[in-house]
Amino acid sequence: NSFGTGPSREVIRCLEAAGYEAVFVGGAVRDYVLGKPATDMDIATSAQPDEVKVVFSNTVDLGTEHGTVLVLMQREPIEVTTYRTEGTYTDHRRPDEVQFVKSLREDLLRRDFTMNALAMTKEGELIDLFGGKQDIAHQIIKAVGNPANRFKEDALRMFRAVRFASVLGFAIEEDTYKAIAENAQQIRYISIERLKAEMDKLFNGIDPEKAFRYIQDSGLGIHLPLFPIKAARLISTVPYESAVEGWACFMVAGNFSPTDVMKAYKLSKHEQMVITAVNEAYEKRRFQPFSIGDYYTYDLQVLFTAEKLFQAYHADKEKISNTEIMHRKQSLPIQSVKDLKVDGKVLISWTGLKGGPWTGKWIGLIEHAVLHGRCDNDSNTIKEWFLHEFNREK
Ligand code: ATP
Ligand code: MG
Repeated sequence: NSFGTGPSREVIRCLEAAGYEAVFVGGAVRDYVLGKPATDMDIATSAQPDEVKVVFSNTVDLGTEHGTVLVLMQREPIEVTTYRTEGTYTDHRRPDEVQFVKSLREDLLRRDFTMNALAMTKEGELIDLFGGKQDIAHQIIKAVGNPANRFKEDALRMFRAVRFASVLGFAIEEDTYKAIAENAQQIRYISIERLKAEMDKLFNGIDPEKAFRYIQDSGLGIHLPLFPIKAARLISTVPYESAVEGWACFMVAGNFSPTDVMKAYKLSKHEQMVITAVNEAYEKRRFQPFSIGDYYTYDLQVLFTAEKLFQAYHADKEKISNTEIMHRKQSLPIQSVKDLKVDGKVLISWTGLKGGPWTGKWIGLIEHAVLHGRCDNDSNTIKEWFLHEFNREK
C-alpha cells in the first residue's frame, strides 16, 4: 500500500512511538479509496497540541485553539489536529468552542459526510465507522448523523455537498438533499470568502452541471449572494477550463455585469480583469467575428471563453474553433508593441526632434499600421511609412 508519503507516515510513527494514537483523516483518505492521487495529508491524533509540539522540534501553530499544529517533517508541512468535537453552533457557521476528545470516533462524528469521515492507519487499514467506503462505491454524498441538524450547525456543509457533487460527480443522498432544500436559506450565514472558495472548486469539478441543478432545485440559488435565475443557461456552458472561466460564464448566463459578480463574490484583481475582458470580447463577438484588433487585444483564454459563450447562446451562427482562434492570433504580424522593430528613440533619431508625447502617439500609429498589414514590421519599411505620414501631417 502506497498511502501517505514518507514524511506524513514518519509523523504518525513518531506520535505512536510517543504513546499517542495517530491516523490519516479527511479528503486524502477519501481520494485514496477513490483511487485518486492524494493531495494534502491531514493527520488526527489523541495527543494534545502542546504534546504534539513536544514530540516534534519543528512546528508552527495553526490555531492551537482549534487543535491544529503544522509539523515540518523533512521540509514538508504536515497538518496534525488533535481529536476534537465541536460545541454548539449559535451562528450556523462556527462552533462556539471546540473540545478535545480522547476517541477517534468522536472526532469522526463531527465530520460532514460519510466519505469524509474515513480514517486510515499508517499500515493502510481503513477505519470506516459510518459506511463511507460503501457510499463512495455507490457515489453518494451522505451526511454523518441527522442531516438537518448537521446543516443547522454549519450551513456551509450544504454548499460543500453540491461542490462535491461537481468535483466527484456523486449524487446527494435523498435525506441529505431534503435537508438542504429545507435549510437552504441558512446559507445566508456563510461568509462570501468561504462561498467563493467552494464555487471555485465547483467550477473546476468534472460535473458542474450536476451542482448547478442541485443549487437551483434545492433553493440554495435564491439565497446565494448572486446566482443566475435560470441554471439552464449556465449548464449550456459546462465544463470549464478554469474557475475564472466559470465566473465569466456565470456572469453572462445570469445577465450580470462584471461589477455585479466582482462585488457579490469578491473576485481577485486577476479574475476581475479576465471577466471584464470576456464581457467586452463577448459583446463584440455577438455581432461579428473577432477582428484583427480583438485577436491582438485579448488573451487566448479570453477569446476561447468569449467564443464558447457565443456558441452556447448563438448556436445558429457561424462558429470558429479554438485551433483556428489560436492560429489567427499567432499569425498576427506582432503580438504586442514590444515586437515592433522601432521604438521612440529611433523616431527621435529619424526626425532630429526632442522626445515628448508625440513619440508615444506615433508608436501607436505604427503599431496599428503594422498590425493591419499596411506596413511591414522592418525598420526600413517603417521608416519610409513613418516619414511619409509624419511629413504629411506637418
Ligand atoms: P478537498 O479535497 O477539497 O480538500 P476535503 O474533504 O479535504 O476536500 P477540507 O476542507 O480540506 O475538505 O477538510 C478536511 C476534512 O475536514 C474533511 O474531509 C471533513 O472530514 C472535515 N471538514 C471540513 N469542513 C467541514 C465542515 N464544514 N463540517 C464538518 N467537517 C468538515
Ligand atoms: Mg483537504
